[in-house]
Amino acid sequence: MRLDVVTIFGEYLQPLQLSLIGKAQAEGLLDVRVHDLREHTHDRHRTVDAPPYGGGAGLLMKPEPWGEALDAILADPPEGADPRGPVLVVPSPVGEVFSQRAAVELAAEPWLVFACGRYEGIDARVVEHYGTRIRVREVSLGDYVLNGGEVAVLAITEAVARLLPGVIGNAASLTEESHAPEHDGLLEHPAYTKPASWRGLDVPAVLAGGNHGAVDRWRRDQALRRTATRRPDVLARLDPARCDRRDLAVLAELGWTPGEHGFQVEPAAVADWADTNEP
Ligand code: SAM
Repeated sequence: MRLDVVTIFGEYLQPLQLSLIGKAQAEGLLDVRVHDLREHTHDRHRTVDAPPYGGGAGLLMKPEPWGEALDAILADPPEGADPRGPVLVVPSPVGEVFSQRAAVELAAEPWLVFACGRYEGIDARVVEHYGTRIRVREVSLGDYVLNGGEVAVLAITEAVARLLPGVIGNAASLTEESHAPEHDGLLEHPAYTKPASWRGLDVPAVLAGGNHGAVDRWRRDQALRRTATRRPDVLARLDPARCDRRDLAVLAELGWTPGEHGFQVEPAAVADWADTNEP
């Protein structure tokens, strides 16, 4: 997979040389190219920003350097690129909230280009223009504001690259995680390692009992409980057709009942949950 990242702070992407992502690059599984946006300016000060039309605080990134930088990247496609070109990923607080599902979709692409905004972001015409030429996804890390897109690129790249074949040694570990489709998108169950007892806290006996069926069942129960209590939005999307009788019983205990498109919770259960989670 090729990743082109356009930024004014290339050093911010250095962590991609480390750990599994660094190893994936060394092994040729990933080709990360970082481009300096300022290389596409033509004035003495290498200006990439200007005040916004209409007034307001801060500065915006001008469209011309972006146009030149992105055109140069598009003119140099990797072998085997999709005829539709790369997906241009634009980190932004106004984008779709990044998710494991989005990571899986992006991991299926041979070529991603990232546009890291700074200041108050990038002139809106850049997304508008490239949206007519290639696929563009504005992606948010969450409902908060960062200073720039680089941290988002690090997070997105890590989530995407670890899904590529060969990047993670044990591929099974990818399916045994929170948000994995193989586990219906549920949060992961609590996990324990040695010692069996630590500071008066014992590992649940079932996990050391050697009964794999019982372990699987305990883990599924815990995943359902955790998801229902911590992320009701995720539980609400659980497909009832993926649930067995025991799943339904665990959820019913917590006030959740299957509906036409997912699960719904009785208002009383939400009130209980809020009570027990009050600071
Ligand atoms: N004025 C913008 C707004 O209110 O939507 C925020 C600009 S922010 C200070 C500068 C850059 O940081 C953005 O262009 C984007 O690249 C990045 N950024 C900030 N928050 C982000 C988030 N939640 N997710 C992804 N990228 C973000």
